[in-house]
Amino acid sequence: MTHRLAGTGKRILLLERGDYLPRSQANWSAKTVFVDGAYQAPETWYGGDGREFHPGLHYYVGGNSKVYGAALLRLRERDFEELRHVDGVSPAWPVSYAEFEPYYAQAEALFSVHGSRGEDPTEPWSSGGYEHPAVTHEPRIQRLSDDWAEQGLNPFHLPLGIKLDERNGKPTPTSVCIRCDAFDGFPCLLNGKADAQVMTVDPTLARHNNVTLLVNAYVSTLETDPAGKTVTGVRVTREGREEFYSADIVVVACGALSSALLLLRSANGAHPNGLANGSDQVGRNYIRHNMSVLMGLSKEVNETVFQKTLAVSDFYFGSKDYGYPMGLIQMCAKTHPDQIRGEELPKWTGFLPDAPFEVMARHSIDFWLQSEDLPRPDNRVSIDRDGKIVLDIAENNREAHERLRAKLEALLVPGGLYGYLFERSLYLGKNIPLSGTAHQAGTLRFGTDPRSSVLDLTCRAHELDNLYVTDASFFPSIGAVNPTLTIIANALRVADHIAERLQ
Ligand SMILES: Cc1cc2nc3c(=O)[nH]c(=O)nc-3n(C[C@H](O)[C@H](O)[C@H](O)COP(=O)(O)OP(=O)(O)OC[C@H]3O[C@@H](n4cnc5c(N)ncnc54)[C@H](O)[C@@H]3O)c2cc1C
Repeated sequence: MTHRLAGTGKRILLLERGDYLPRSQANWSAKTVFVDGAYQAPETWYGGDGREFHPGLHYYVGGNSKVYGAALLRLRERDFEELRHVDGVSPAWPVSYAEFEPYYAQAEALFSVHGSRGEDPTEPWSSGGYEHPAVTHEPRIQRLSDDWAEQGLNPFHLPLGIKLDERNGKPTPTSVCIRCDAFDGFPCLLNGKADAQVMTVDPTLARHNNVTLLVNAYVSTLETDPAGKTVTGVRVTREGREEFYSADIVVVACGALSSALLLLRSANGAHPNGLANGSDQVGRNYIRHNMSVLMGLSKEVNETVFQKTLAVSDFYFGSKDYGYPMGLIQMCAKTHPDQIRGEELPKWTGFLPDAPFEVMARHSIDFWLQSEDLPRPDNRVSIDRDGKIVLDIAENNREAHERLRAKLEALLVPGGLYGYLFERSLYLGKNIPLSGTAHQAGTLRFGTDPRSSVLDLTCRAHELDNLYVTDASFFPSIGAVNPTLTIIANALRVADHIAERLQ
């Protein structure tokens, strides 16, 4: 949003509750990142049953993208339409894929996405190719791809947001990333990952003196005029002081959960149940993905360093033997011994009596599975009377996810692996789905009807003239691809509306 609007010359203030993520060798330590959770927000939230948990949130310049895997895929064209799932209906978006397509193309260029069109059997149509070629598979992953192609699948190169210099094929300070095993889930010490700080915030600040960033600036509430039609001010706690800022236009982009919480905290006389919450929709219809991180064991040692290069979408909308969508299989970062040392080992690992962690990590081939989670009004984030944050979820569409896992299981032996999968819950945090907030979306959905949505089609609050929201909270449904490319594309789309309005 800031990157696109900076060129208007308007004065823009970015308020970020966190600071720059410190760059140090610890960025690459699996123990620091996953076992100690050193970069995770030190927050305690509560489930609907009162159980405590620690959400997988990261408060830094660049937000959660500092640790994301940078798999940047477009939603499928049919994801914008109503889609029947085993557990119900995934609602249609109020705009079509065609409206998003040009912004997807711009988002791919902005975030340096490396991919290959025409391989992914469910990819939507596009107006052009990727600007950068796909990151190639290392030999073991190429063999897996070939073996699965022989089984009749269409494995494809995962589109990745990464900074590489492929003009001369020579290593650059950042191209070392493809020889680095600390990318997916880790902050990148070399700033080679295409995250929001590196690709948009820093370059915008360097080029535009009409943009100011304040860090450690926690936005506590938004204030409105007495009629509740306009946001008149932003109340901030910064380094122990209370501050107040105002602007003609206010854009909230705190992440889907935190944005809903900010609106709820901002209740006032004109908006007694929270800002823009006349329809009681704020915080509801929370969606994420049904996700699993699973470790398989290759019969041969897996020497792969950068493993997140392959994906399979053949089961995305179903299969011959199952008529409902199942989701996406993609690779994830390779297991590190410290990660599995922190897990409960299943009994079958007894067949590896010596140094089981090191042996398992050397043979591991690791997968990330995600299936669609359907929106339900009662799946919601809220603030209780004592000020505690409550995330209440009843899981759904689990059958689709289990089916996807079974599909992967059936592909292990043909792919040269042992026929077992081992859960790696540390990547996403223990007790998924509560702490698994990585793919948070849907708490302030957009639509044409103010009775069932919070935002209009330009992501402006129905009830307030100058308030916009541009994180994943506008999603009416989440599909089964990673959400961030859609968030970026939408931010560019909304920025164009705001720029037009400013003129
Ligand atoms: C481990 C992990 C792996 C992931 N991998 C992928 C992937 O491969 N592909 C993909 O598409 N997505 C991935 N994601 C998800 C991705 O990180 C998010 O979709 C993306 O970061 C959302 O961007 P956002 O700007 O909307 O929100 P966020 O990244 O959450 O940014 C919100 C910002 O607002 C700040 N903030 C919050 N509240 C306040 C407040 N009150 N005052 C001031 N500032 C505030 C936060 O500190 C943060 O900087 C992953 C996430 C995680 C955690």
